[in-house]
Amino acid sequence: MCPAVQDPREPIDLHAHSRVSDGTESPAELVAAGVAAGLGVLAITDHDSTAGWVPAFEAARGTGITILPGMELSTQLDGASVHLLAYLIDPAHPGLLAETERIRAERLHRAEAMVQRIAVDYALEWDDVLAQAQPGSTIGRPHIADALVHRGHVADRSAAFQSILHWRGGYYRPHLAPKPLTGVELIVAAGGVPVLAHPGGRGPDRVFSEKRIKTMVDAGLAGVEIGHRDNAPSSRERWSDVAERYGLIVTGSSDYHGLGKPNVLAENTTTPENYARIVELGTGSSPFEG
Ligand code: AMP
Ligand code: FE
Ligand code: FE
Ligand code: ZN
Repeated sequence: MCPAVQDPREPIDLHAHSRVSDGTESPAELVAAGVAAGLGVLAITDHDSTAGWVPAFEAARGTGITILPGMELSTQLDGASVHLLAYLIDPAHPGLLAETERIRAERLHRAEAMVQRIAVDYALEWDDVLAQAQPGSTIGRPHIADALVHRGHVADRSAAFQSILHWRGGYYRPHLAPKPLTGVELIVAAGGVPVLAHPGGRGPDRVFSEKRIKTMVDAGLAGVEIGHRDNAPSSRERWSDVAERYGLIVTGSSDYHGLGKPNVLAENTTTPENYARIVELGTGSSPFEG
């Protein structure tokens, strides 16, 4: 085992977004923020895209920070949005690439449909949303939120999510995505390590019966993100118990989105032991030692 795996520098933060999806910083700015926060390891985990990896590696060179390459894969189950963190995947795996391209296209259609609904009641055009997103990025509600802010309808992203963009706000539409089980299988096929992201949100806790969890673990689900601000205490207890029974890797992360969310780097962290287990399991790519 290489020394960096045996003795990674702390703190270790394994979930962060750049403008490649719905963060507000470029991959290079995200890495600079990680260095400024004193991180030993930072994972870049944009939604359904690995386009930020290479610029993140380039920015990390010579800084001493380690970049764990990852992605946050969107999946859907019974109307619930379930996110899977996919570490150390092969970014060129054809099956996973085809699926993420499909998801990004579905996200685009869904965002357009939401804008059409919103435009009935608020001055908002699809071009307003496009103006808020980097070309080719994974489009999500945060970009609609930015357009609503720009138009002066809401104060910030959080206000938009609490009102117009809320799933019960009257304008919400889900987007098509594979089932979590398919997601786990694809990530494993791409040499990656699947970790269930923030399971304590509205979705996963409701849809994951004990039987479904076992099926996911049998398919290769390797870990669960228990340290996350969206996980309520009761669901942390539940998933800690699940992790213990199945011997899962346990992670903690910030889910940093730059200025797009109040989450700050290293507000939750992962232990070196759990990080080492991810690095040992992943075969599709390697951490970049900056
Ligand atoms: P979507 O995947 O398009 O449904 O949008 C959900 C994304 O919006 C999540 O990945 C979060 O990162 C982000 N998000 C959720 N709540 C907020 C919030 N209050 N402020 C900013 N971003 C948020
Ligand atoms: Fe996000
Ligand atoms: Fe997420
Ligand atoms: Zn995230």
